[in-house]
Amino acid sequence: MLNNLKPQAPDKILALMGEFRADPRENKVDLGVGVYKDAEGKTPIMRAIHTAEQQMCDTEVTKTYAGLAGQPEFHAAMAEMVLGKGYPADRLSCLSTVGGTGACRMGFELARMANPDTTVWVSDPTWPNHLSILNFMGQGYKLYHYFDNATRSVDFDAMMGDLQGVKSGDIVLLHGCCHNPTGANLTLDQWGAVADLIEAKGAIPMIDLAYQGFGDGLEEDAAGTRLIASRLPEVLIAASCSKNFGIYRERTGCLMVLGDAATQPVTQGTLAFLNRQSYSFPPFHGQQLVTKVLTDPTLRAEWEAELEAVRGGMLDLRQQLSDELRKLSNSDRFDFVAEHRGMFSRIGATPEQVATMREKDAIYMVGDSRMNIAGLNEQTVPLLAKAIIDAGV
Ligand code: PMP
Repeated sequence: MLNNLKPQAPDKILALMGEFRADPRENKVDLGVGVYKDAEGKTPIMRAIHTAEQQMCDTEVTKTYAGLAGQPEFHAAMAEMVLGKGYPADRLSCLSTVGGTGACRMGFELARMANPDTTVWVSDPTWPNHLSILNFMGQGYKLYHYFDNATRSVDFDAMMGDLQGVKSGDIVLLHGCCHNPTGANLTLDQWGAVADLIEAKGAIPMIDLAYQGFGDGLEEDAAGTRLIASRLPEVLIAASCSKNFGIYRERTGCLMVLGDAATQPVTQGTLAFLNRQSYSFPPFHGQQLVTKVLTDPTLRAEWEAELEAVRGGMLDLRQQLSDELRKLSNSDRFDFVAEHRGMFSRIGATPEQVATMREKDAIYMVGDSRMNIAGLNEQTVPLLAKAIIDAGV
């Protein structure tokens, strides 16, 4: 039986992590995998998470199974963080999932159960795992233009042009903030125009929100999602807690589904069914940590301050890199680095230029020239800027 298996192409980003580790050069710089790193290159446990974990350790008395769809307190806290106070609880169904990836997968599964003919519209480019999951599921999808490689900003006209092809019942997948891999995001006006188009087509928006708090702020990063949620009758939201709570390995995410109050019980039941058929109960630990941090005022204040510091640090690095590139290129053509938001920017280098930077300067970025800004520090910013210019980007 096992002879029938074919080798799977390794995930490019994970393969890059391995190559980086194997590189003996001391001055190497890892701008690959999407994990936040501080100035020392560490991915720390956030202080509030650490305290919540200690409290949990002291007070938890059982490890028996918990909720199949997840913990209601976690769902309420996440709904409030994503949708804001006063979210329409009667129309909302929630599922705790294995990270944001699990939320995306379950969202696609739910859409397919409800409408086997659906097509998922995905930005070009997008987080590669979106396409990988859709391919694995045999779920049909179409790409819509998103990024203008010349200006390194959103090609909104091309995007809207492509989305004219959306049919009733299709899913339009949008990145809630901090677009991965480009770093280029929609303005609120553009979100409004996208909402109009989706509404006119009778399609269903699905928002992947993996970086809330990493762009313009916790509230600001949810603005597009909230606009869509306030306008459309049915909305899917896949939220990840990996980055903003720094709990990557705890695998914590939440799929939120807004629909009709009358159909909410069936939707909620279907979500629980999806967990049961896939892995039964979702991971509990991360849900509990997030719930504690979001609902305990002291922990919440501490977490928000730390998240702000993380966000501010990345913005500073963006500005430094943009300034350095301005100086070296004697032009403003890299100003987009300071305008992009989140952990990533697509710098616009060719695969050959990316390879040159890796071979010559030990700078590792993804082949499409996505770089993780958080992988930089004050010392490495000038090295990267020089490498970019030397490579002829
Ligand atoms: N969506 C996007 C756009 C992402 O970048 C990521 C993380 N790389 C995820 C979803 C999922 O994250 P996780 O499963 O680790 O929570």
